[in-house]
Amino acid sequence: MKISTKIVHCGVGSDPRTGAISTPIYQNATFRHPALGESTGYDYSRSQNPTREAVESALAELEGGAAGFAFASGMAAVTAVLFLYKPGSHIIVTEDCYGGTYRVLAQLFANLGLAVSFVDSSNLDEVGQAIQANTAAIFVETPTNPLMKVADIKAIVCMAQQRGIHTIVDNTFLSPYFQQPLRLGADIVLHSGTKYLSGHNDTVCGVVVTGSRELGERVKFVQNSTGSILGPQDSWLLLRGLKTLALRMEKHAANAYQIAKWLQTQPNVKQVYYPGLDGHPGKAVQDAQATGYGGMLSFEVASPALVPKILSGVRLIQFAESLGGVESLITFPAVQTHADVPPEVRARLGVSDCLLRLSVGIEDAGDLMEDLAQALA
Ligand SMILES: *Cc1c(COP(=O)(O)O)cnc(C)c1O
Repeated sequence: MKISTKIVHCGVGSDPRTGAISTPIYQNATFRHPALGESTGYDYSRSQNPTREAVESALAELEGGAAGFAFASGMAAVTAVLFLYKPGSHIIVTEDCYGGTYRVLAQLFANLGLAVSFVDSSNLDEVGQAIQANTAAIFVETPTNPLMKVADIKAIVCMAQQRGIHTIVDNTFLSPYFQQPLRLGADIVLHSGTKYLSGHNDTVCGVVVTGSRELGERVKFVQNSTGSILGPQDSWLLLRGLKTLALRMEKHAANAYQIAKWLQTQPNVKQVYYPGLDGHPGKAVQDAQATGYGGMLSFEVASPALVPKILSGVRLIQFAESLGGVESLITFPAVQTHADVPPEVRARLGVSDCLLRLSVGIEDAGDLMEDLAQALA
């Protein structure tokens, strides 16, 4: 069965009692026990909730994994995965990763004894050279935020597996519709479900899917112990959003490609970063491991003075953080999403004060270009 069909049927059939097509919202904390030592399978909603379970199994299926987990945010999902590793372990992480991931590693997990090397994960030599005797995981984002660098998932898995190291992929930017890292050999996939999975800028949530049952049991233990679960209402919103993922991703990607090509022709634009562009250094890897390029692009304008003008000049495109929703959003990474990355690191990464990031929505591409044109003028 094709993924676009699976997507539509997310959660359908999850309520055999009534046959409800839309999974009901079990707004419920606790469940009656039939007798001492017996359970309906549900005891308490931190541990299991039928609405959360419906979205968790749907996500496990879409990513091709053994077990799925829904969290209160993407950062709760990242945190739960990092709790799998003991103090003294070492993790290799994509250097231009999501700012919050950088912050939780550098400012919280560093104190808990987790050592981190940030590397350019589009450079396999750099990844290989960072491996130490205590390396427990390689955690990549691909394409990266905001420079759209592409990491070769299969090649990284190959390096990691030989040494018993986990490969973790933050798949937020492409969603399982375009990229399924577990099928490329990764051990764990995670998402900010706030973005494309729910897709409507109305829910904050996170997702973890594991390739094996054994890792699933370990994530389950962390989720139940630390308690950062997704509530039933938001689980339903995530499920509701998911059903149109295929249609949305197609439109996001078609619009983004058209806008990326057009931006390249604009005199006030110096550089466009989009993995679907012919000159993009990661395009070949992207073509081999994903079925699309997604809806995210970044571009560098001719001078820092243009940045505030564009941010206040756009009318249709909203100046707001976040991404992956049906509405187009523009952000200024150096000041917003990447504020917690030290300035010298930002400079090395190319997150400059001329760089803008666009989350291309599903509006008419012509209207979006018209809006950008008047803001760039
Ligand atoms: C937004 C985001 C996160 C964090 O998710 P929240 O839902 O905001 O907690 C993690 N990774 C990536 C790539 C993101 O874009």
